[in-house]
Amino acid sequence: MNNSTITVITGGSRGLGRSTALALASRGQNSIITYRSGEAAARETIQSIEKLGARAAMLQLDVGQVAGFAGFVTRLREVLNSTFGRERFDALVNNAGEGLHKPFVETTEAEFDELVNVHLKGPFFLTQRLLPWIEDGGRIVNISSGLARFSFPGHSAYASMKGAIEVLTRYQAKELGARGIAVNTVAPGAIATDFNGGAVRDNSALNAGVASSTALGRVGLPDDIGGVISNLLREDNRWINGQRIEASGGMNL
Ligand code: NDP
Repeated sequence: MNNSTITVITGGSRGLGRSTALALASRGQNSIITYRSGEAAARETIQSIEKLGARAAMLQLDVGQVAGFAGFVTRLREVLNSTFGRERFDALVNNAGEGLHKPFVETTEAEFDELVNVHLKGPFFLTQRLLPWIEDGGRIVNISSGLARFSFPGHSAYASMKGAIEVLTRYQAKELGARGIAVNTVAPGAIATDFNGGAVRDNSALNAGVASSTALGRVGLPDDIGGVISNLLREDNRWINGQRIEASGGMNL
């Protein structure tokens, strides 16, 4: 990808998506970030990107509501034109998401459906809808989780969706290769964000447990992941395709 690329990052207002947008901005690359309800956080992220000298725009999107995708594409095209003077963008990071910590036997159908919608159906059909507006030679990164490789009780539904997105990544890589679009998965370990109520960051027992099972001896921080995702989008990483890249500091090796 060339200089001054545009990356669409779902859930780019906070946490790992925000860190990715800022890492891109530090190299002069632009982002369109989405948020679900936290407009103020999205606005703050836009200001931080602009301070780094890159351009940015924000759009509201509920990734779990496929019915809203047609309207989102219309608004995205308007922003591409008005803010960047472009018809298409260069990269898509399917990052938005929420967790669920519940034993398998207690997980309800409604909770399962919510996770399917946000973590699998949403990224599947959002990517499908956005494909005409991604440049040939572009990139897609789908965010999975270390929990798709190792298993902690209480994550059966969430981790199942992340396992599915890893399979989807391989199929997308195979089918979109004809357009020169590379598709990869980044699977973070436990990272101290607001995710799951900020549990990894704020629950000292959980934090210590993760640190002790991590080769590098601590929990991850958002910038441990933003750098990985943004690096994967660099032109000189163009030959990585269809891969799962785990960024966990070496959890449960
Ligand atoms: P955060 O809770 O810090 O941020 C979540 C972001 O996603 C926010 O921008 C939020 O917007 C947005 N979002 C949440 N739900 C939806 C939705 N239904 N539709 C649209 N946007 C939504 O989470 P993280 O940054 O930690 O997580 C990002 C991704 O990384 C997720 O896919 C998560 O599963 C994955 N991950 C996280 C790990 C961790 O330990 N943190 C570990 C492994 C994977 P708003 O503020 O408006 O709600």
